[in-house]
Amino acid sequence: MADHTRPFDAVIVGAGFAGMYMLYRLRGMGFSVRVFEAGSGVGGTWYWNRYPGARCDVESMQYSYQFSEELQQEWVWSERYSPQPEILRYANHVADRFDLRRDIRFDTRVHSAAFDEAANCWVVEMGDGERVSATHCIMATGCLSSANMPRIPGIDSFEGATYHTGRWPHEGVDFSGKRVGVIGTGSSAIQSIPLIAEEAAHLYVFQRTPNYAIPAHNQKLDPEYQAAIKADYAGLRARAKATIPGLDFNFNMASALSVSEEERQREFEARWAYGGLPFIGVFGDLLLDQRANDLAAEFVRGKIRDIVHDPDTAEMLSPTNVIGCKRLCVDTGYWATFNRPNVTLIDVGGEPVEAIIPAGIRAKGQEYAVDAIVFATGFDAMTGALLKIDITGAGGRRLTDKWREAPKTYLGLGIAGFPNLFTITGPGSPSVLTNMLPSIEQHVEWIADCIFYLRDQGLNRIEAAAEAEESWVAHVREVAGFSLRSTCSSWYVGANVPGKPRVFMPYIGGFPAYVQKCDAVAANRYEGFTIG
Ligand code: NAP
Repeated sequence: MADHTRPFDAVIVGAGFAGMYMLYRLRGMGFSVRVFEAGSGVGGTWYWNRYPGARCDVESMQYSYQFSEELQQEWVWSERYSPQPEILRYANHVADRFDLRRDIRFDTRVHSAAFDEAANCWVVEMGDGERVSATHCIMATGCLSSANMPRIPGIDSFEGATYHTGRWPHEGVDFSGKRVGVIGTGSSAIQSIPLIAEEAAHLYVFQRTPNYAIPAHNQKLDPEYQAAIKADYAGLRARAKATIPGLDFNFNMASALSVSEEERQREFEARWAYGGLPFIGVFGDLLLDQRANDLAAEFVRGKIRDIVHDPDTAEMLSPTNVIGCKRLCVDTGYWATFNRPNVTLIDVGGEPVEAIIPAGIRAKGQEYAVDAIVFATGFDAMTGALLKIDITGAGGRRLTDKWREAPKTYLGLGIAGFPNLFTITGPGSPSVLTNMLPSIEQHVEWIADCIFYLRDQGLNRIEAAAEAEESWVAHVREVAGFSLRSTCSSWYVGANVPGKPRVFMPYIGGFPAYVQKCDAVAANRYEGFTIG
């Protein structure tokens, strides 16, 4: 592709669900747009995370675009929780259906983006040195896309094969007859461990912190159920948007402390039988009152003791932290996997594994010989993918410097000092605490309307004002403090990446309150932004 001398109206970084819809929306408004994507195909998260058992923890009928009624009517999901290959097929279907590929450049990693004040445009440079310029630069880089490889001593000395769940080989991995070590027990590990255990000769699970997991009870989607939802898809979408996580499920607003022990257990059992993330909605004060949280946590620990035969293993697997503080995991057969004779749990007691050695893994003074290591060690969440790009704003200020102490944004959409730069589901927006698809759509539509407004008014520059940003950051912190969610060492606070600033990054005030705020800002001529 030749150098683009005339600036694009917008450059979009990333062709996951955010970048794809952003392209569709802006192109539909007559803007010139180019998308750059490091992968060889669309799908973002679902392009990279191909580990065994990868599937969405939001129900299929809700984890999909709603901007096109035809699309949501024609697409047929096969399971209650979609497996990764099916979501990737859906992403490809969307790309084909809306003819998106002609404006996406694949296999191209964006290396830097610098704001040229004189020309009022962004100069975006690729890994191969090619440069393009655009009035607006939109980061659709994803919240969980920058793989976190732990700095374990000796990591390069290992003589076997290594994998990260977030960068899984496209051709798959055959673990038959192999001794495998999985490091980590977060969502990715909890989904992949039962399947790896079925294949491997022996599986060693290295656990730093035990996690809560609720059964998915995944099943084939009943066509009648699907048809009933499609008959009033708008109704389901509207109900979802009225809830804090942007998900249509039943929230019990009662306090866990206000009901009898019998009723409490009935509610817990009903949620366990229903399965998945709705467990968090079992009582209204689950994430607000430690006593309510303790009751739910003990219920799940009871389930672990029921399922896992060996009492010592059950004890090691039982989390003691706040349930729902880290993202709740949704599993299929995770706890029962530890009853298999070919599975060994090694609890490293809150510490990282000691070392990787040529023949395997050393933990708590003991060496475990393995043929392959799976790093299920998560992501440098929310800021990692943005800071990997060398972003320079007005006056030559680097985003890495601005965010040294903590990520600061206005609404997770704009950044003071970085004119005409937008982030989709950036830090300071509800993003990862909500169903990502409606959150993405809301951001995309807000950004597209904003760029349209600027063009309509004959303007071409918008920048978050420093005071508006400061007060939004303060609000994000204040509301985070009301929830037990901000109290543990999770990736929400950057605790999983050594040296990362400890600050609760997503906005916890809920989808409806956030949308109301964004709408009010737009209605008041982009209040809190300086435009010109
Ligand atoms: P994660 O939740 O951050 O889990 C990483 C695991 O690796 C943790 O158990 C962590 O222990 C451990 N770990 C990290 N560094 C280590 C070290 N040096 N030594 C030993 N253990 C170490 O990552 P994830 O499982 O990939 O999930 C991240 C997020 O992606 C999820 O919370 C979810 O939002 C999303 N996700 C969703 C799905 C789904 O839709 N079903 C599936 C997968 C992921 P500590 O807990 O002690 O830090």
